[in-house]
Amino acid sequence: MNKKSIKDIDVKNKKIFVRVDLNVPLDDEGNITDETRIIASLPTIDYLIKNNAKIILASHLGRPKGKFVEKLKMDPVAIALGKHLDKEIKKMDYVISDKVKNEVKDLRSGDILLLENLRFDPREKSNDDNFSRELAKLADIYVNDAFGTSHRKHASMVGICKYIPSVMGLLLEKELRSLSSLLKKPKHPFVTILGGSKISDKIGVVRNLLNVVDTVIAGGGMCYTFLKSIGFEIGNSLLEEDMLEYCKQVLDEFKDKGKKFMLPEDVVVAKEFKHDSILKTVNIEEIPEDWLGLDIGPRTIDKYKEEIMRAKTILWNGPMGVFEWESFEKGTKEIAYAIIESKAKTVVGGGDTIAAVKKYSVADKISYITTGGGASLKFLEGVKLPAVEALNNK
Ligand code: ADP
Ligand code: MG
Repeated sequence: MNKKSIKDIDVKNKKIFVRVDLNVPLDDEGNITDETRIIASLPTIDYLIKNNAKIILASHLGRPKGKFVEKLKMDPVAIALGKHLDKEIKKMDYVISDKVKNEVKDLRSGDILLLENLRFDPREKSNDDNFSRELAKLADIYVNDAFGTSHRKHASMVGICKYIPSVMGLLLEKELRSLSSLLKKPKHPFVTILGGSKISDKIGVVRNLLNVVDTVIAGGGMCYTFLKSIGFEIGNSLLEEDMLEYCKQVLDEFKDKGKKFMLPEDVVVAKEFKHDSILKTVNIEEIPEDWLGLDIGPRTIDKYKEEIMRAKTILWNGPMGVFEWESFEKGTKEIAYAIIESKAKTVVGGGDTIAAVKKYSVADKISYITTGGGASLKFLEGVKLPAVEALNNK
């Protein structure tokens, strides 16, 4: 790797701004449901403590859309992180403020400050130059340890690198190395399982997977736009209207190249988006108006399993249904069991997908769990990650 790492520089007594990915999944009451990302951030933080650095941590959490959202404050994350490190974390109520600047000034070696949710400020996502400079002013050195966000051109990921020396953290380095070794020259058949709800994110990458994978298995919220694009009625299921044309083209291209793009043949539909909604299993051409698809059906599960058993490499990002609710978890659960039964090298990524493999106790049988969902798909496409590119070369 040609990028500088935290191990290549002297951090002693220096103020280090570490962009971590502490974007953990939360339940309706704001409790953290899975701490994988917090745990993944520990090696770099430990390293900095041991080497007497002054540590400033920053992350985003959820999708506050550039505004303050009480439920998305970093406080519960600070508490959880503090427990893991057995150390006090000074949680700031702002990203940039006089108080923050003063606290930074007073930092002693080994101290840890956690800034407020970066995405409360709209300038984070717009990669605003002034905001990037303000962030940079807090520290002597910037460390990117947020692999899961490295496909995004945001101020704390890209803009900041213009102003202070910028290096990889231990997690970022490990993610890039592991994914390279597993996915750069994958054994075939290579099957990608795609689901989840961030449809615009995920649909966008599918075309580029055409050059890499042999089969795409689609489920979750993202598959309904594909289904609709070839004429199925999808009721109230998730839909990305302006991607319909694109979806149709993608399906045609897969066909032309003799590759498989598998869509559900049956689904579990619900009358309402509720855990205890009335539900039924229907063939894909029979989704009733006003109902919505919340899981893949049993015939689809069987077909997908067959494909998974034949695979030599599997990348999974996105649950097959609303697995948080028992009534709609079967697809995700069965796929989780299938991938550990297969002989394939398996890579699983994405906050919720990781939560799912943990829920079904299969996490330790997976070859590699990456903290990045979208980022791992981008990596697979062979696209350079902007936030990695922005770091200093060796
Ligand atoms: P990841 O975090 O693994 O990248 P996403 O955030 O894209 O995955 O999506 C996960 C979410 O998608 C889950 O919370 C799940 O409830 C939801 N989901 C899955 N299938 C559907 C569906 N058919 N309709 C609506 N939401 C869905
Ligand atoms: Mg998610």
